[in-house]
Amino acid sequence: LKLLSTLAEVKEAEIDGLVLVPTMGALHEGHLSLVRKGSQLGKPVVVTIFVNPLQFAANEDLSRYPRNLEQDCQLLGGEGVEYVFAPSVAEIYPRVSSKVSVPEVTEEFEGAKRPGHFDGVATVVCKLFQIFRPSAAVFGLKDLQQCAVIERMTQDLNIPVQLCFEPTVRENDGLAKSSRNAYLTAAQRNSAPVLYRELNRCAEAISQGNNVASALEQARVQLTDAGFSIDYFELIDRISFRRTENLNKDSAIIAAAKLGTTRLIDNVLLFTTPNMS
Ligand code: AMP
Repeated sequence: LKLLSTLAEVKEAEIDGLVLVPTMGALHEGHLSLVRKGSQLGKPVVVTIFVNPLQFAANEDLSRYPRNLEQDCQLLGGEGVEYVFAPSVAEIYPRVSSKVSVPEVTEEFEGAKRPGHFDGVATVVCKLFQIFRPSAAVFGLKDLQQCAVIERMTQDLNIPVQLCFEPTVRENDGLAKSSRNAYLTAAQRNSAPVLYRELNRCAEAISQGNNVASALEQARVQLTDAGFSIDYFELIDRISFRRTENLNKDSAIIAAAKLGTTRLIDNVLLFTTPNMS
């Protein structure tokens, strides 16, 4: 495994036709599933580890976000990853005068709750695409709105990259793996799987033809009873990222809710699993 930390080192490495797996580090099985998908594509895999300040709001957890480059590299070495790119903030942002915005799919949900977040994500991913010119890039469906943003950005800006979106990796009790799960107290960790349980129950009810509004409301009540403070729990179209009552192949239920100060997000797709576009 080669550790690259500057743009000059990237240039010197002359990696062609690679598969990019962008992350913020503190790697877990969810990230490793993306890496494994990347390896299956038969090209060198580059994992980027960069806690991107541009996607954190002032009140968010940038300074306490878990960082452990050494352990991350060990995990990635074990997966046969060829390159890790872990640049400094100054290397990526000598200045920030241009940003990428994808307004249509970011008006609601995470975009509304976290103003500026998706500009930060789109900007850094666009920069990584320019730096590496990957033939493919792998992202997790866990961050469903992020997938919509990246898909729309690559279409709008004609970026020639194949996108792979991989299913969410979960703990045995259903909780989606996330670096932020470490913030949960033991009691909150016990309640946390209720989020996925209610997403599934609601998906089941809606696919069986039950009334959408009441299925959603029932799930919200269950979550509130379990101690969650809900930001949103909605049926949407994963391409437009708008609420919908009509089911189609892109229907998904998305949720964000807090247990104490820790915010969990999760989703379920009602029908197909998109893994490539
Ligand atoms: P992050 O390090 O949180 O920015 O995530 C980097 C990539 O890993 C993103 O594409 C995430 O969607 C993906 N990811 C995070 N958690 C999971 C998970 N539990 N299962 C699958 N992919 C994940």
